[in-house]
Amino acid sequence: MGKKETCAVCSGKIDLHYNPMEEWGIDGMMCGDCYSKRVSEHYPGEHIRVNKDLD
Ligand SMILES: [Zn+2]
Repeated sequence: MGKKETCAVCSGKIDLHYNPMEEWGIDGMMCGDCYSKRVSEHYPGEHIRVNKDLD
């Protein structure tokens, strides 16, 4: 069937999918961009690295 994995937030194509936190109320997978955005919105003090270009 070739069902495409798309991000539940931006509907973009997902290369690496991330499971949203339960409290975010998101049904489906998220792309790395949306995931890191959510993380920084919900947990501003914490650094969770999605991209490795911050070194
Ligand atoms: Zn997305």
